[in-house]
Amino acid sequence: MKERVFEKRTCPKCGQIYTDRPANSRVDGSRICPDCGTREALESIGVGREEQDKILSIIHRNYQN
Ligand SMILES: [Zn+2]
Repeated sequence: MKERVFEKRTCPKCGQIYTDRPANSRVDGSRICPDCGTREALESIGVGREEQDKILSIIHRNYQN
């Protein structure tokens, strides 16, 4: 069987189970979920938590099309 099964990973940062390609944490190099990767990137440019939530919800909305 050659079917590629998406590997399930658990994000050490938020505990979410995800199957997308992991992001590397800028903080400690661990593999984190794409959401946390986005959060860290936003955080590094000074975006606050509330704004991060807004941006992530927009990203998720776009993926659902
Ligand atoms: Zn996460």
